[in-house]
Amino acid sequence: MKAIVVEKFGGPEVLKLKDVPEPKAGPGQILVALKAIGVNPVDTYIRAGTYTRKAELPWTPGTDAAGFVEAAGADSPFKVGERVYVYGAVGGVYAEKAVVESSRAFPLPDALSFEQGAAIGVPYATAHRALFLSGGARRGETVLIHGASGGVGVAAVQLALSAGLIVIGTAGGDDGAAFLKSIGVSYALDHRKPGYAEQVLKLTDSKGPSLIIEMLANVNLADDLRIAAKRGRIVIVGSRGPVPIDPRDAMTKDLTVRGMSLWNMTDAEREHVHADLAKGFADGSLKPLIGAKFPLAEAAKAHAAILAPGARGKIVLIP
Ligand code: NAP
Repeated sequence: MKAIVVEKFGGPEVLKLKDVPEPKAGPGQILVALKAIGVNPVDTYIRAGTYTRKAELPWTPGTDAAGFVEAAGADSPFKVGERVYVYGAVGGVYAEKAVVESSRAFPLPDALSFEQGAAIGVPYATAHRALFLSGGARRGETVLIHGASGGVGVAAVQLALSAGLIVIGTAGGDDGAAFLKSIGVSYALDHRKPGYAEQVLKLTDSKGPSLIIEMLANVNLADDLRIAAKRGRIVIVGSRGPVPIDPRDAMTKDLTVRGMSLWNMTDAEREHVHADLAKGFADGSLKPLIGAKFPLAEAAKAHAAILAPGARGKIVLIP
């Protein structure tokens, strides 16, 4: 079968399409014929070799995918032919097939395409964990989703709206703000426009949002601390470097700043989160949005695209 193989860390060009032996499902595992694969920013950090999590080379990237069960090992609850989405494989998922522990596969609802299934694992679970477990989101309060147009942002918008929050979302450019309006945010702002943080204050009667889900803390944390409401919570989901802040902003308002890494999700949390997501897929409140699609052979282009501005939903690879 074909798979992307990384033999040395580096730029997107190290992602090479190769012929590799087909994996076999052991007890409790399934072999999934993949139809769509989700690309996450973390795949690019690990590929570059600069991330805290180091991959063992040769390495096939990827965590999120969807497809058909092609073979089921003993003790797997899945049946051959079932549509599934997966979060994590025994090897990576940038491939035509992957072996997955049954606990990391979930039935793909009929209403969702394989591409939508590939947009769930990291983005929706991250958004869910950031909003509810780390952020303690409550009906009726205002959340600023700072970076709402990408994979995690769109998921966070849908989850927050469905939980009855007022959502201020940011994206880059007028087209980004228009995109956010189209997915139903209460207020859409352009994070490239100087002074947009002041707009957040205006929209909240100078009180500030009580919850901020932050996708780029190294750029925004100082402003977040400044504009958050008294006793507000800021959840750091994304950060690509250090940032100077004024801790007094946190002190004077009793703010809570929490980091959140999906890698720390326990098995019990994973079960709870995906069961909750299934309700949203069933009632139509959660609908993954696909931004750009690339053939598996063009994984390098997808890696360049996911780090470029202009995210509009999830980037997927088609094997
Ligand atoms: P993505 O699809 O590439 O989206 C990136 C988002 O960041 C877009 O909405 C983009 O908006 C926005 N952005 C760009 N400049 C910004 C700025 N100055 N202020 C605020 N937002 C800005 O990536 P993703 O999958 O949604 O992931 C978002 C971040 O969370 C990444 O850094 C990723 O590594 C991280 N992440 C963390 C975890 C975790 O466990 N902690 C899990 C998943 C992802 P425009 O493109 O419209 O400008």
